Amino acid sequence: MPSIQPIGLLSFSDFATFDAHRHSSDSIFRYTMPRDMEILKDEDKFEIKCYCGVCCKNTAMTVNKYFSFLEGGRKIPLWRETIDCQDCRLNNRMRALLHMMSAEIKIPVKSDVYFTEQVTDTYKHAVKYWPKSIGSEFLRDGTELGAVNQSGIRCEDLTKLSFLDESFDALVTMDVIEHVPDYLKGLQESFRVLRPDGQLVLSAPFNLDLESSLVRARFNSNGKIDHIMEPEYHGDPLDPNGLLCFTTFGWDFLQTLRDIGFVNPCLSFYWSERFGYLGVQYCVLARKPAQSAS
Ligand SMILES: [Zn+2]
Repeated sequence: MPSIQPIGLLSFSDFATFDAHRHSSDSIFRYTMPRDMEILKDEDKFEIKCYCGVCCKNTAMTVNKYFSFLEGGRKIPLWRETIDCQDCRLNNRMRALLHMMSAEIKIPVKSDVYFTEQVTDTYKHAVKYWPKSIGSEFLRDGTELGAVNQSGIRCEDLTKLSFLDESFDALVTMDVIEHVPDYLKGLQESFRVLRPDGQLVLSAPFNLDLESSLVRARFNSNGKIDHIMEPEYHGDPLDPNGLLCFTTFGWDFLQTLRDIGFVNPCLSFYWSERFGYLGVQYCVLARKPAQSAS
């Protein structure tokens, strides 16, 4: 595995500490946000030169404003969903998570790692770093849970994993948990299949201003979906219609992890011009206790 420079993470375990930081004079947002605006071009699609932490080389990355919002009259891309490396094709958040797992958390090459994805470019590259990885998809083609379909894709439901207890050294779930109606069960299952001292690496869109998560939709007693808020759909490699987002997470997500038994859950923030991690992004890190309670 090539060695790459760490990113330098800033971690917060609760809203109050984060809020104090972002309003302080040495807040990372004070220099990163103006720098993002300097790098931003007016074209809907432009190129920047960065070092890819997955390909481990200097390369060109494409910034696309397909997902964007307006601020001060300028069209700002959703940085987390773009800055695609032209070699590995992974975007900002995908490159950063693999980079972080390798260079910051230093997950050993021989680890058993479970990824809640398999048909993606991210998984294709992850297997090069951690050859013992297992990936799966929530298939809707009739394949039984724990079985593999004709294309070699394993079917798993995060709320009913087919794996034995303590099967993995790390569990990685990227932008999946917000689509799981019973996300608490999904997190409990993640805890169950991790070994003592096992690492959880999770990404999901958060609203950093929210102390409590918002339920956007839920299944009612008739098995139908009740929309509590305007339905929000995210891209899905298996479904062109996209996937419904059930929850917008707030900082109470970290307390939920503590209640399940995870230790030191935090939101870890990163930004790097060199690596093409613009827009200050974050992911959730937590561990299972080193000594199993049972
Ligand atoms: Zn790359």
